[in-house]
Amino acid sequence: MPSGEFALIDRFFRDIGARRDVPVGVGDDGAVLAPPAGHDLVAVVDTIVESVHFPAGSPARSIGHRALAVNLSDVAAMGATAAWALLALTLPEADERWLAEFTAGFGMLAHAHDVQLVGGDLTSGPLAVTVQVLGTVPRSAALLRSGGRPGDLVYVTGTPGDAACGLALLQGRLRTPATADAAALAALRERFLFPAPRCAIGERLRGVASACIDLSDGLAGDLSKLALASGCGARVDVTQLPLSAPLLEVAGRAAAEHFALTGGDDYELCFTVPPARVPELEGLACTAIGRLAEGRGLAVCRGDSVIEFSHSGFDHFAR
Ligand code: ADP
Ligand code: MG
Repeated sequence: MPSGEFALIDRFFRDIGARRDVPVGVGDDGAVLAPPAGHDLVAVVDTIVESVHFPAGSPARSIGHRALAVNLSDVAAMGATAAWALLALTLPEADERWLAEFTAGFGMLAHAHDVQLVGGDLTSGPLAVTVQVLGTVPRSAALLRSGGRPGDLVYVTGTPGDAACGLALLQGRLRTPATADAAALAALRERFLFPAPRCAIGERLRGVASACIDLSDGLAGDLSKLALASGCGARVDVTQLPLSAPLLEVAGRAAAEHFALTGGDDYELCFTVPPARVPELEGLACTAIGRLAEGRGLAVCRGDSVIEFSHSGFDHFAR
């Protein structure tokens, strides 16, 4: 973006967040950051591409929000506290109204989590947004996928499935009952457009959870990854899934279970806790849905009986 690139950076990206631990932010060749003593740095990066991760023509405010939210969710899953973000934005054109909305979405979420935008890049091309977030965690205290043990309880935050149903609604892929309540439909769409990363819960889980993963590709697939990394199997009871009232109303019970198990874009946390530590979850918005087990693989059950279930998570290069 030759003409106006620097003016655009100045106008839209210079003033997102303000932290004391940023000696040099936007404007030099690189940012200089001052992590606190006694901490590890946690680094995550995610790209969202138009027509792959969000429908073409999505509201710019949602795109800005989601580009940051998906990264904050990864940081939360590590039990870390997000501090700094970098933004590499590829745009077909420098539409100032679009940019104002995009930065409003990005900036409001950054502000809510005390994250400062410290650098980035601006290029022209098909719409794609890459965000890197850096966070900190007390030394050696990061939550990993690999710490789970057979017998640990499996928990999930929030109400998985809502976002996938919301996306299906946005794409016109879901037949909705004529009686469906407009507020329920709007709530589901909102869960896709403006996911709420579980940052406070991630921090609270440090020293409590044995393993943690964030849900981006569907609960069944992502829990399978956690179990594999922990060297065990897992068992989930569909009757324990925390399905939201809007999801049940709009999709019905069977489709709601399917959205919750296989739908992507939740950005909830799925974590495991040894039975003895369960009392420490007091006050956290999470639900026990199963257990880690000896062996390998995920068993999906209805009460005591295992049900037939195929759960390939989203894979960009699957064939
Ligand atoms: P360079 O050419 O050295 O990579 P640029 O001219 O691309 O630097 O960027 C100038 C400054 O603006 C740098 O500090 C860079 O980090 C920052 N910057 C560029 N694009 C963005 C953006 N989209 N958001 C935040 N900062 C940005
Ligand atoms: Mg550059």
